[in-house]
Amino acid sequence: MYNPKSMEAEEFISHEEILQTLDYAEKNKSNLQLINSILEKAKEKKGLSHREASVLLACDIPEKNNEIYKLAEQIKKDFYGNRIVLFAPLYLSNYCVNGCVYCPYHFKNKHIPRKKLTQEEIRNEITALQDMGHKRVAIEAGEDPVNNPIEYILESIKTIYSVKHKNGEIRRVNVNIAATTVENYKKLHDAGIGTYILFQETYNKESYETLHPTGPKHNYKWHTEAMDRAMQAGIDDVSLGVLFGLESYKYEFAGLLMHAEHLEAAHGVGPHAISVPRIKKADDINPEDFDNGIDDDIFAKIVACIRIAVPYTGMIISTRESEECRKRLLHLGVSQISGGSKTSVGGYFNPMPEDENSAQFDVSDRRPLDDVIRWLMEMGYVPSFCTACYRSGRTGDRFMEICKQQQIHNFCHPNAILTLKEYLEDYASDETKKIGCKLIEKEVQTLEDEKIKSAVEKDLVEIEQGVRDLKF
Ligand code: SAM
Repeated sequence: MYNPKSMEAEEFISHEEILQTLDYAEKNKSNLQLINSILEKAKEKKGLSHREASVLLACDIPEKNNEIYKLAEQIKKDFYGNRIVLFAPLYLSNYCVNGCVYCPYHFKNKHIPRKKLTQEEIRNEITALQDMGHKRVAIEAGEDPVNNPIEYILESIKTIYSVKHKNGEIRRVNVNIAATTVENYKKLHDAGIGTYILFQETYNKESYETLHPTGPKHNYKWHTEAMDRAMQAGIDDVSLGVLFGLESYKYEFAGLLMHAEHLEAAHGVGPHAISVPRIKKADDINPEDFDNGIDDDIFAKIVACIRIAVPYTGMIISTRESEECRKRLLHLGVSQISGGSKTSVGGYFNPMPEDENSAQFDVSDRRPLDDVIRWLMEMGYVPSFCTACYRSGRTGDRFMEICKQQQIHNFCHPNAILTLKEYLEDYASDETKKIGCKLIEKEVQTLEDEKIKSAVEKDLVEIEQGVRDLKF
């Protein structure tokens, strides 16, 4: 029985409800009247239900699809302005006891070099990331209670926050580790993590069990209810995602939105962000072995429909995707991207040749961070290294309230400008700095509140004089 408030995985992600939703969407994919009414509702920018959004995803009327893309762009502008937040993944360990068939870390893979960073090696990685200009990392690890116990993760977080190299520091550590207990989530919360990230991979229970044949991750219920345990433990910023390519994208889309609706219904706050990874080639993994791969056009439509369905939820795209694909998705709703990423354990301090690589998957966008920053600015975006909300207690429902009232610009835009200025002063190439300084001048003029504007102008001068970490 479908019940978004239930704490039972199979009730808040109801298989029957998804099948009925897909049937409804298919039957109404050319229903102009219904699609128009859903678009009218969407224009109120308060979001859509999984059923309504599924109809838009299925819609096969070209003019209406253009309207969907335009609306997604508009919502993106209204809620996120022209800011794009930057982060980098940090792979701590690729030891893993699970048997996930799409992931090269699966325990049967004997030819991938296994590696777990020591605390000294983590300091080296963080120093390298700080030298690039990063302020946010997302730590990643395989699931292995012996090699990667929670104590190791906690110690690593402490190390990451402790490294202060030149003007650098990591100000937000997001965590992408396997589903765990409320007790362990409390420990992560106390360690000061930003967002807890866990991809569902697939919402289809039967496929989930086949794709995760062995190991603790096999347990669909344990995995699907992880965000509830994280929230019970006080982590109110959680990030969802599915690995597109494993199951039918329409099924995953409905499941993802039902999960978001469940978090809102059961905890009063939806997901902070949604990631949209697609399966990629990796050691021992050929994406063509999976039948549900999606092309760039469908991918763009998914991103646009997510943007419309949950306007106040950030959307993340990684370097799994190419420059060209990322450019298209930025317009349609993505608000956070990684840059200069290495998906191998220890890859920032010690870049390795491909064949000796412990990488999780192939990276498509291999440009250095400085190139990504310049590219964003040339397209009119303001790259942001901001971490202020979470450090000022603007998380969970407090953040959502500000976001839903479209007030986030008053904090985010000044903070984006200030953190970009820090980047330009400390890390940018001459060319990037030149473009960035011009952009900042222009962006300061867009600040409507005179008090905020003069405070930003004052802070910009202070940053030039060496002051760091100024924020609103
Ligand atoms: N081990 C943790 C867990 O069980 O959730 C999370 C860390 S894992 C390093 C991060 C994510 O990478 C996975 O959740 C999966 O979606 C993604 N991933 C695994 N194999 C991939 C592949 N071949 N291509 C793209 N993404 C992949």
